[in-house]
Amino acid sequence: MRNPSPLRSLPTKPRRLTTPAALIEARLAPPERLAELEAVAARYAVGLTPALAGLMRRDDPADPIARQFIPDARELVRGPWETDDPIGDDAKSPVKGLVHRYPDRVLIKLVAVCAVYCRFCFRRERIGPGSASLSDSEFAAALDYVRANRAIWEVVLTGGDPLTLSPRRIALATQALAGVDHVRTLRWHTRLPVAEPERVTAAMARALRADRRTVVVALHANHPRELTAAAHAACRRLVAQGLMLVSQSVLLKGVNDDVDTLDALMRAFVEAGVKPYYLHHGDLAPGTAHWRVPIARGQELMSSLRARLSGVAMPTYVLDIPGGRGKVPVGPQSIRPDGAGRHIVTDPQGAEHVYLDRLAD
Ligand SMILES: *Cc1c(COP(=O)(O)O)cnc(C)c1O
Ligand code: SF4
Repeated sequence: MRNPSPLRSLPTKPRRLTTPAALIEARLAPPERLAELEAVAARYAVGLTPALAGLMRRDDPADPIARQFIPDARELVRGPWETDDPIGDDAKSPVKGLVHRYPDRVLIKLVAVCAVYCRFCFRRERIGPGSASLSDSEFAAALDYVRANRAIWEVVLTGGDPLTLSPRRIALATQALAGVDHVRTLRWHTRLPVAEPERVTAAMARALRADRRTVVVALHANHPRELTAAAHAACRRLVAQGLMLVSQSVLLKGVNDDVDTLDALMRAFVEAGVKPYYLHHGDLAPGTAHWRVPIARGQELMSSLRARLSGVAMPTYVLDIPGGRGKVPVGPQSIRPDGAGRHIVTDPQGAEHVYLDRLAD
């Protein structure tokens, strides 16, 4: 066997790509698109990890992984209905970095940075390398709010991507929140197990754990190819520490708006130990019109999925009502009243049946 010299065999650590020039150098975009990419990058953060860059098929201009991370001039086209705060977080923020929309749970935006910057991000106006994360005193104020509100049963840690913090910082936040008696559930929203699986170490998994608390990790992925062997291993490290894994995906035109892709994505989640949770209808974030799929199409896809997938693999299709009115399941509805006291129910093949409530008198 060939035995290379020790110097030559030193691996060069692949780095995150954070500029249009780096994307072009890595041959993930053609040089003639430099000006276009620069114009978008001047407005919205760019970031891509080696793990996801390695999944992109350079010869396919419509590659569903590349589409999610390579800037596109259409991001600069802003519709009049699009807003910086599409799900109305600001109106429900009693303390900096904390959103309290539902009585029993709050969001805390711990950090404003991510390992990768998704081109369709609904918080795109608020995140990026230049944006400030919560300071220690701001976190302390959020913690005081949680302590003072006994109805808060769950704290959702988000950002940005809060798993970009070190295990030490994650453990500090976890222990502080788990020290509040009425907080029974912690939930971390992240893309890291697919974006940078090697950073989801056993030490990080241990840092997320809290005694007598349920800790949930909500993994964001949109295409089955994101769930690589390395991503599976990262998920397994989290499951091994007793964490509950659920998924989050966004319905994205050209990425996952067909039944075969969604079917494969949901099965890939389950195979990695992740329970499909939400399929989000895209929010009205600036410059995201080219990602949007009609609600009726989303419902049709959900019906087709229901006919093919195990219940364990089914997500709920949800819409965050603009203006901060909350998330609601948007169907499809398989049962409806017929106006004469009966129900009409549709079976997985699309045939309708009458169903009657048969109650005790
Ligand atoms: C999405 C969201 C949650 C979590 O909602 P679930 O339906 O429980 O997943 C909590 N608070 C805010 C402000 C949210 O936007
Ligand atoms: S990881 Fe989440 S917060 Fe970060 S850019 Fe993607 S969608 Fe936005």
